[in-house]
Amino acid sequence: MADCIFCKILNKELPSEVVYEDDQVIVIKDINPMAPIHLLVITKRHIASLNEVLPKDEGLMGHILMVGQKLAREFGIAESGYRVVTNIGKDGGQAVPHLHFHILGGAALGTKLA
Ligand code: AMP
Ligand code: ZN
Repeated sequence: MADCIFCKILNKELPSEVVYEDDQVIVIKDINPMAPIHLLVITKRHIASLNEVLPKDEGLMGHILMVGQKLAREFGIAESGYRVVTNIGKDGGQAVPHLHFHILGGAALGTKLA
């Protein structure tokens, strides 16, 4: 997708700090971290948000969570705990309309979700 920040990152048109990559996802460090560890699991296919995910993407959704689990272990936050979040649309606070899951940890996170 033209003009999509994450598609540009995937195409290496924009720089990023990649910590993991496979055929389905890329994981980068968030440029504006909200926690000591803040990673973004980004789908390689441009999907606007969870709203646009199709039944055929069920495997991809599971894969994203398994990659999140693996990265949490590697970044040393599996035992202390962490949060996995995907924002959807305007009220969800989604700034980048390309499906991504935030992995947040490394400190006690706020309990307020809204
Ligand atoms: P969301 O509000 O859920 O759409 O989250 C978008 C996230 O992408 C925010 O946490 C931003 O800090 C992050 N972000 C935006 N541009 C970049 C970039 N070029 N590299 C890494 N993270 C980015
Ligand atoms: Zn995109």
